[in-house]
Amino acid sequence: MNSTVRVRFAPSPTGPLHIGGLRTALYNYLFAKKKRGAFILRIEDTDQTRYVANAEKHIIDSLNWCNIPFDEGPGKNEKFGPYRQSERKEIYKKYAEILLESGWAYYAFDTSETLDLLRKEHEEKGKTFIYNWHNRTKKKLVNSLVLSKEELQKRIQNGDAFVIRFKSPQDEILEIEDEIRGKISIDTNTLDDKVLFKSDGMPTYHLANIVDDHLMEITHVIRGEEWLPSMALHKLLYQAFGWKAPKFAHLPLILKPIGKGKLSKRDGDQLGFPVFPLAYKNEETRDISRGYKEDGYFADGFINMLALLGWNPGTEQEIFSLEKLIQSFDLKRVSKSGAKFNPDKTKWFNQQYMQQKSNSELALLFTTILNNKKIFRDQIYVEKVISIIKKRAVFVSDFWELSNYFFETPSEFDEKAVSKNWKEETAELMIQLLDIISKIDNFSAINTENVIKEWITKHNIGLGSIMQPLRLSLVGALKGAHLFDIMEIIGKDETIKRIENATKNL
Ligand code: GLU
Repeated sequence: MNSTVRVRFAPSPTGPLHIGGLRTALYNYLFAKKKRGAFILRIEDTDQTRYVANAEKHIIDSLNWCNIPFDEGPGKNEKFGPYRQSERKEIYKKYAEILLESGWAYYAFDTSETLDLLRKEHEEKGKTFIYNWHNRTKKKLVNSLVLSKEELQKRIQNGDAFVIRFKSPQDEILEIEDEIRGKISIDTNTLDDKVLFKSDGMPTYHLANIVDDHLMEITHVIRGEEWLPSMALHKLLYQAFGWKAPKFAHLPLILKPIGKGKLSKRDGDQLGFPVFPLAYKNEETRDISRGYKEDGYFADGFINMLALLGWNPGTEQEIFSLEKLIQSFDLKRVSKSGAKFNPDKTKWFNQQYMQQKSNSELALLFTTILNNKKIFRDQIYVEKVISIIKKRAVFVSDFWELSNYFFETPSEFDEKAVSKNWKEETAELMIQLLDIISKIDNFSAINTENVIKEWITKHNIGLGSIMQPLRLSLVGALKGAHLFDIMEIIGKDETIKRIENATKNL
C-alpha cells in the first residue's frame, strides 16, 4: 500500500447533504490537504430502496460551493473507480465468496417470518435475539452451518433466497483504537452475525465499505460517530481478509441549539435556519428546503463556522481562512463530545467575513440587486456606498435597506420626525444653508462638515435645528450614515436637489 494519505467521504445518496455530513467531508478534506494526500468522494448507493436521484448532485454541488472539491470521485480522476458502489456490484460478490471459502461467512436461508418470530419469542422473555454463536446452529435457523453440502447445493440451485452472514468470532476481546476516542474494547460475544450480502444480489454497507476502502487504498476513515458501533465488525472484516486496516476516527455529533439531541431539519424549520449548504428541492413532495448559499451566507465564513463545530485550534482564534484551517487542523483536537449548533454564531461569522471582503467584490453582488430594481450606477459609486454601510450589514441582502437613500431621492418623509424637527423657521434656515452649500467647491465630507459647522457656530443657530432637517432632506428619516459622508457620496448637485425638494414638500 502506498504511504500517501488517502481519505474518503462516503455519503449514501438518500437525500440532500446535511451540515453534519458536510462537516465530515470538511474534516476529511482538511486532513487530506494538510498531509498532501487525496480526498475521495465515494457514493454508497447499495441500498436501492432509499436511493434519491438528485441527492448525488446536491452533494457534489455543495462540496464545490464550499470550495472543498474532491480529488477523485464520480467523473473525476477515476483511477480507483468506479466510485459509485452500484457500479461495482461484481467486485463485492467475489469478496463475499472469498469469505465463504475461508469460513468467515456463511449462507443463511431464514425467512423474515422466522426471524421475526424468534425476535418476538426473545422479547417475551425479556431478551434480545442476536443471530450469532449462541444460536446460529440451533433453533429454527437454516444456514450453511447446519445444512449438508448437498442440501446447500440444492437450495442454491433452486434459487432459494439467501443472505451471506459474517461469522463473528466467539470469546474474543477486540482492542481497537480510535484516533479521537482512544482505546475501545469490544467483547465479540455481543456482536451479531451481520448480513454482508443481501438476497437482492447487493452487498450491505459493511462489506462494500470495507472492500472499497481497501481497494481504494484508504489510509484513514474519518466519519460520524453513528458508525462507531460498526467499527468492531469492520476491524474483524479486515482481519478476515488478511488486510491492513486503515486508522479510524469517529467525529462527534452536531447537536441542536439547546445542546441535547442530534441537529435535525426540523430544528432548522422550527427555529428558522437552514441545515443544508445549498437549497434542495424534494422531487416527490416538491418542497424546497433552504440553503446557506441562497440565504446569503459566504461559503468561506460558513466553512470557518463549521470547522469549529467539534474542532478547536487550542487558542482563542476564531477566524480561519481555508488555508489556515488546513495548516491548523489536527484530529487530536477534535472533541469527543457533541458540538452545539449556534445559528447566531453563523451570522456572526458572516458579518466578520463581510468586513474582510473587498468593496469591489461586494459591489458586484450588490449591483445585481440594484439592477433588479432598475438602478444602474457605476461600480466606483457602489463601492463607496458599501464602504460606508458594510459595518452594519450581516448579509449583502441587508445593503439595500441600509443604503437606499444613496440611490433614490426620498419621496416620503418620516411623519413623526418631521413634526418634531421641521419647524416654522426651518424652511428659511434651509434656504440659507443652500446658499452656503452652493458655494462649497471641495465637497469632501471633512470640508463640508467644517464649513457648515463654522456657519452654524458663527450664527449661533443650534446644531439640531440644521442637522435634523438636513438629514430628513437627504434620507427622508432620522437614520443612515454620517451626514457629511452621505453628502460627499451623493455629491453637491444631488444634495442641493434634495434640500430643495424637502423645502418644497414639507
Ligand atoms: N455511507 C455511510 C454514510 O452515509 C458511510 C459511513 C462511512 O463513512 O463509513 O454515512
